[in-house]
Amino acid sequence: MIAFASPQKSGISSLPDYISPSAAKSYLACSLRFYFERVAEIRKPTTPALHLGKAVHSALQAFHLARWRGTDDSPEVVAAAFGDAFLKLEQEEGPVRWKEGEREKSRLAGLCIVAAYLDSPEVLRGKPRGVEVPLTETIPGLAVPLTGVLDLVTDNFTPVDFKSVAAKPDSQHAAFDHEIQLVAYQLLLEVATGEKPASLDLVYLVKTKVPQVFRVSSPAADRKRKDRVVRLIDTAVSGMSEGRFHPQPGMTCMSCQYRNECKRWPGVMSERRAAA
Ligand code: SF4
Repeated sequence: MIAFASPQKSGISSLPDYISPSAAKSYLACSLRFYFERVAEIRKPTTPALHLGKAVHSALQAFHLARWRGTDDSPEVVAAAFGDAFLKLEQEEGPVRWKEGEREKSRLAGLCIVAAYLDSPEVLRGKPRGVEVPLTETIPGLAVPLTGVLDLVTDNFTPVDFKSVAAKPDSQHAAFDHEIQLVAYQLLLEVATGEKPASLDLVYLVKTKVPQVFRVSSPAADRKRKDRVVRLIDTAVSGMSEGRFHPQPGMTCMSCQYRNECKRWPGVMSERRAAA
């Protein structure tokens, strides 16, 4: 998430109030899509995959919170949390672009994925150090505070992020793809606690017919990796603050919901200012 001071929306440069790793990654992938989504705030119907991912995330959060509080963490309670989130998200963040018969299939698939996590070797054991931990810290090399919400922090300070995906990704590529997020979480944790995480973990929930759950664990970042990520995030902050938003055609265009808006993007700055 990113908040711009109000002049940014009218095209006048200003620093964002803070930067999250997801905003930085989104900006670096395509700055124009970032602009449509997070600056102009053009709303699009929620995709079924995003809706399901959010409901699964809420169920896992309920399970981890119950572990943290020492309350009922039974599969029935977690399944009920999934059902509630599935409905509530439709009401609050919908509409969802369901195809005929897709909604019930998706709901049942979500229940299977949540059950697979609870049965898997990757399920949280014991009490976590934190669940949905919001952190905002000043990081040397960044002009604005870094912010993030960590899904789970284990007792040895390992940040764990959960991803719902349609197909099993390659482990090395997964860690590389999420390097900004993982290292940003390490930076936040180290400043907030003074502790170095044991590792940086992703837990994948794969929506195959028989759901799969697997962990990708990376070593904690050294100085070089941290510097690289700080530089990448700073590049995004500079671009946002200078109002640099332009098409970056590539693989991401396949799933981009802003293709029509993108086609209308005027290359000439004066025309962009007039349209703002
Ligand atoms: S269609 Fe491609 S280039 Fe255009 S905004 Fe979307 S991701 Fe960016």
